[in-house]
Amino acid sequence: MKIKSAEFDRSASDLKSCPNWNRPEFAFIGRSNVGKSSLINMLVERRNLALVSGSPGKTTLINFFIVNGSWCLVDLPGYGYAKTLQVKRADFNETVAEYLEKRENLRCVFVLIDSNVPPQPIDLEFVRWLGQAGAPFVLVFTKADKQSANAAKNNIAAFMKTLSTWWPELPGTITCSAKTTAGRDEILAVIDEGLAGGTARVW
Ligand code: GDP
Repeated sequence: MKIKSAEFDRSASDLKSCPNWNRPEFAFIGRSNVGKSSLINMLVERRNLALVSGSPGKTTLINFFIVNGSWCLVDLPGYGYAKTLQVKRADFNETVAEYLEKRENLRCVFVLIDSNVPPQPIDLEFVRWLGQAGAPFVLVFTKADKQSANAAKNNIAAFMKTLSTWWPELPGTITCSAKTTAGRDEILAVIDEGLAGGTARVW
């Protein structure tokens, strides 16, 4: 997919104020500092698109960007402020929970996880919650350039091992780097597939 245009459309503070349109939506979420803004900018080849989401007053909102006029990239507020190990619904933004559970336009959630650290309980619990919520998702392991490929592989394998104790089928994974653009084509392929009416890959 070639990105021809990418524009900020609006922010929403709850499900009711989300846009009333038919555009398929692809959402990005992760702990703060996971590399979400860098990844979004890399994906759409704009230097500062995701800056909007970090501007004052916007960090707790759902931010919508229209890409190529036809689909929507949704920048969701991060999770990770919870002090407890269990991510209960209320431990992350209630609006985000509602969006992920109920938004009909949602085709795929890209859950960003730092490939440089061993599995973090907060990420595992969020993914577990998302699985229960029934949203289609893919795991995107970020900042893969920061360490050896083997070290990243080990962290990813450990993460997937935990998921395999919960679920018979595992979600798709993409390893990426905003620095080298690794993983960009894979993410866009998932979006292409979603636009064609398919669901997120599971393998
Ligand atoms: P956000 O808070 O999730 O939006 O994260 P940012 O995109 O602001 O990135 C957080 C920090 O990680 C910044 O210092 C980035 O320069 C750095 N970073 C983000 N992506 C990458 C990456 O792919 N590779 C490397 N080496 N650093 C990255």
